[in-house]
Amino acid sequence: MTETPEHRRLIIAGSGIAGLSAAIYAARSNNEPLVLEGDEPGGQLTLTSEVENYPGFPEGLSGPDLINKMKEQAERFGTEIDHGIVTEVDDSDRPFRVELRDGTVYTCDAFLAASGASARTLGVPGEDELMGYGVSTCATCDGAFFRDEDMLVVGGGDAAFEEAHFLTKFADTVYLAHRREEFRAEDYWIDKVQKKVDAGEIEIMRNTELLEIHGSAEDGVDHVTLARNEVGHPSENLDDPDTETFEFDVGAVFMAIGHTPNTAYLEETGVELDETGYIVTEGGTGGGQTRTGVEGLFGAGDVVDFHYQQAVTAAGMGTKAALDADDYLEDEVDEKTEAPAEADD
Ligand code: NAP
Repeated sequence: MTETPEHRRLIIAGSGIAGLSAAIYAARSNNEPLVLEGDEPGGQLTLTSEVENYPGFPEGLSGPDLINKMKEQAERFGTEIDHGIVTEVDDSDRPFRVELRDGTVYTCDAFLAASGASARTLGVPGEDELMGYGVSTCATCDGAFFRDEDMLVVGGGDAAFEEAHFLTKFADTVYLAHRREEFRAEDYWIDKVQKKVDAGEIEIMRNTELLEIHGSAEDGVDHVTLARNEVGHPSENLDDPDTETFEFDVGAVFMAIGHTPNTAYLEETGVELDETGYIVTEGGTGGGQTRTGVEGLFGAGDVVDFHYQQAVTAAGMGTKAALDADDYLEDEVDEKTEAPAEADD
């Protein structure tokens, strides 16, 4: 006999700032949200030591502190938070059927995808051990901690260029290492960075890859091992006599090699994903901005937004999604279930 899945009014996938902001609003609208916390509970903010740009905290606070406060606030209004990795959402019928990695199945009237995006990392020696101790995936969050140090940014896309440009505020010199000759970044960023190159604040290292990061949790990053070969992708050509491997002194390393949105569980649904997997929402300026192409399924935070990617913008989008979900639940779910009773009168 198959068990009837537990039914929920609203499921929110993700306990980052977008998911928790949505939960606060949804709980206060009596939508009894269940927040499913994934493999990175609290989302990317928990990787950030100090948040100094979240409005309302003039002294700053740590990422984990902010997340814990938001969790407490969401729970105070009746949010339930549970661990669970969503592996599939079936949108072929209503209610939605939501399956988790451990085999648990729920049904729900509305579903909010706030499962974030994970910063890609290189997987080189020293990277994991020094993450948070001089290695970072977020220049905006951590740049100020390495004032007057030489800094290395890895990547050749818009994010790498934007981060390198931003880091000139703090760095002695910013070194931008890109694995090939051509950049992926838009001309806008290339031109902007070129001005900093001309001013001696940024140095570009083309055809250069990071092989290892050296340092310790106590003293941070000491230096890195780089490889360079004019044909590009030197790490794939280490045996080539033209590949030069060398040690290079920097005090911080910023990875800017892209993010991967956590949307694999939506691939079989009618939700439109762009070529890199980000959810396409309705957007615009009126209500319903967080709607997807599937009625009752909403998206918020870094799973949608690859551009702003700030805690406060994710919080705002999570809030919008909770309000959009509330409208949907009232208009499309409650009205329809109440209608037959009225007809009986
Ligand atoms: P991206 O465009 O995918 O660029 C990633 C960069 O990292 C590429 O240059 C890539 O090299 C490099 N890379 C990837 N894997 C690597 C590896 N294993 N080793 C070394 N290098 C590696 O990612 P993004 O820069 O994060 O941008 C993502 C999206 O957000 C884009 O659509 C971008 O336009 C947008 N964005 C916009 C802005 C802005 O306009 N303000 C700012 C940030 C991001 P290859 O080029 O060789 O593949």
